[in-house]
Amino acid sequence: MTTKPNMHYADLQESYLFRRIAQRIEAYELDHPGTHLYRMGIGDVSLPLCDAVIRALHAAVDDQASTERFHGYMPECGAPFLREAIAAHYRERGVVLETDEVFVSSGASDELGAMLDLFDASSSAMVIEPAYPAYVDANVIAGRPVVHVPAREEEGFLPEPNESARADVLYLCSPNNPTGAVFNKTQLQAWVDFANACGSVILFDAAYEAFIEGDELPHSIFELEGARTCAIEICSLSKTAGFTGTRLGYTVIPRELVRAGMSLRDMWVRNRTTKTNGVSYIIQRGAAAVFTPEGQRQTREHIAVYKRNARVLMDALDEAGVWYCGGRNAPYLWMRCPDGMGSWDLFDRLLHEVQVIGTPGEGFGSCGEGYFRLTAFGTHENTLEALSRIREI
Ligand code: PLP
Repeated sequence: MTTKPNMHYADLQESYLFRRIAQRIEAYELDHPGTHLYRMGIGDVSLPLCDAVIRALHAAVDDQASTERFHGYMPECGAPFLREAIAAHYRERGVVLETDEVFVSSGASDELGAMLDLFDASSSAMVIEPAYPAYVDANVIAGRPVVHVPAREEEGFLPEPNESARADVLYLCSPNNPTGAVFNKTQLQAWVDFANACGSVILFDAAYEAFIEGDELPHSIFELEGARTCAIEICSLSKTAGFTGTRLGYTVIPRELVRAGMSLRDMWVRNRTTKTNGVSYIIQRGAAAVFTPEGQRQTREHIAVYKRNARVLMDALDEAGVWYCGGRNAPYLWMRCPDGMGSWDLFDRLLHEVQVIGTPGEGFGSCGEGYFRLTAFGTHENTLEALSRIREI
């Protein structure tokens, strides 16, 4: 007998976007050893963890060296101290959650893939494109039908719901990666109403909520009326607090989210207790420090650095008369490629002529063709140098 693999892997696009970019960079570096590259592509952060987090991590390491304070297995759904800190953080914004509606995870990507367990194998997924590639790929691997909804420049890359968006699971990402577009309350309310009317479940990816300025735009889908009966929110400290390599995220599943008489929150408890043994005690202590007043102040200072990068990028694009969106409430700028150029052509030109790496829009879905993503996550010096190089061409 030969084991049959999951043949859906063969349905995936040739390679994951960031792998494809890495291959082009490797080839360039082989031909041009020692050349410095200015990375404005992959959305990784450049600033280290803030002081409050580092101190909490050190203290937690010391706890693990002490017989009295040592922690073995952690509760699968998250340490109570962290679940409470996250619920309190929501409360400050006027969103009241029960502590056991908050789940600690090792990151948004992990959750976005694992969440598919909550839905029937035949469930369809609606993805607004251009989109973070993991949404489509996780569904392709699971053999689920994907409903692709194109977002267009004319509507600010924020489409309204309509019949063609009907699906069991609706992926929404705001602030958006890659476009940086952010739903306002009216626009997001329309999606909540649509999901409730159709009986769909929204997977709301709020990985970039910390980049929203002020209280006008919604940070959480639970600021909207009716969201508790149709939405799951997936968050991450990756971009908020530089946890890309440290790994911590959190997910909110309200009690009222019930389908076919089954509570998705209760199902997720069962899922987590079966499939994980939780996130490390040390990392959860570090994460809890993010939610202290000192941690909040320090993470805001880091975000301000990225915002400053976004500002100089926006000014330069304004000056050059290039259309773009994002940058204001997001670390991403989504620009139209100049002179009708293809997005991989612009990628190659920037890499070969001025050694700047961006992300071709086509990698986020076919309607991303003709656009290009720049990120504000580099150091300020790197961003300025990359900009002056881009200006050269
Ligand atoms: N969701 C979006 C929209 C992202 O852009 C990313 C990472 O870039 C993630 C989720 C994954 O975040 P994490 O590092 O928490 O897995």
